[in-house]
Amino acid sequence: MSRISFTRAQLPARKRIALVAHDHCKGFLLDWCERQRDKLARHELVATGTTGLLLSKRLELPVESMISGPLGGDQQIGARIAEQRVDMLVFFWDPFEPQPHDPDIKALLRVAAVWNIPVACNESSADYLLSSSLLEQQHEYRIPDYQAYLAARG
Ligand code: PGA
Repeated sequence: MSRISFTRAQLPARKRIALVAHDHCKGFLLDWCERQRDKLARHELVATGTTGLLLSKRLELPVESMISGPLGGDQQIGARIAEQRVDMLVFFWDPFEPQPHDPDIKALLRVAAVWNIPVACNESSADYLLSSSLLEQQHEYRIPDYQAYLAARG
């Protein structure tokens, strides 16, 4: 595959934040979201099915839910990242348990790397993201240049 070229785009000030947690990590994510509720409330939240159901009850905030992760919810979030409709991923994946949908998890993490969005995998990294001065600002970032990608193949 030829080298990808890149262009610049803007991450919006009001971020679209995707939240995902594997079963043994859901408690950590729920507690973290509750602690960060005031900040999260200023952004748009989207989650995989079960995570979203639990979060909307706990936070009493609107959370758009995809279907459950093992049924394709991770892929739905990944598709939104590729469409530049998700700006940040908080994904508490379980480092101790194999998951039946491991290929989907890898795909989600890969597409987040491709589209250069901020990703947190645990409370510490998620705290760092939410305390960034960039969180509430529109700011420029690097993304793959898809028009150049097509032109190189035309
Ligand atoms: P869930 O999916 O929120 O529906 O549990 C998370 C996952 O396992 O990817």
